[in-house]
Amino acid sequence: MCRHLGWLGAPRTVGELLLDPPYGLLVQSYSPRRQKHGLMNADGWGVGFFDGAIARRWRSAAPLWGDVSFASVAPALRSECVVGAVRSASIGMPIEPTASAPFTDGRWLLSHNGLVDRTVLPLSAHAESTVDSALLAALIFDRGMPRLGDTVTEVAARDPDARLNILAANGSEMLATTWGDTLSVLRTGDGVVLASEPYDDDPRWEEVPDRHLVHTDGSAVRMTALKGSV
Ligand code: GLN
Repeated sequence: MCRHLGWLGAPRTVGELLLDPPYGLLVQSYSPRRQKHGLMNADGWGVGFFDGAIARRWRSAAPLWGDVSFASVAPALRSECVVGAVRSASIGMPIEPTASAPFTDGRWLLSHNGLVDRTVLPLSAHAESTVDSALLAALIFDRGMPRLGDTVTEVAARDPDARLNILAANGSEMLATTWGDTLSVLRTGDGVVLASEPYDDDPRWEEVPDRHLVHTDGSAVRMTALKGSV
């Protein structure tokens, strides 16, 4: 599984969120602590952030640790809403920059940790890549973010082995699902982090139970059990 991280709150730099923490996405790209599937995340990375209403992205098919320019620029990218991801490609999936999260429909940035049988997903002209995550993102965008929980449970019903941890943000709201993998939440006082695994040992990190939907506006955090969960 890949690893992802989202921030919604007071402006933070992409460097502070992804590169500086002792177990942040940079370290998770080669040494994740809680990853259940895959040893490292060397098949690409991506970061997206809102610049006003505009979703801007930087994605790559190379390992994050090998990028010669990002560490220099990331401290200068500051936003109230950031979604970052490092990727461990599932077997048979393409390795290309467009297969790296976050995906977007222009309004939302979305990342997927997991795996889903592509034959249960509709073909979409909007998918950015043939990777399962891009097809799933296109389906979620088509159905609308208010139906994220229903879309996840419907896809899980069609593919009972699917792992469907989604993270999505639009600048004022951030949503996530847990379906088969880890997710933790950190309320910092001036914002909320949702991350596949804690990026440091701050005791305020809380684990989100499996098969839940998380919603935050950057201060309040609401967790609800998803339909179909046992
Ligand atoms: N299945 C997706 C891919 O191949 C996500 C993989 C993951 O979560 N490791 O990119």
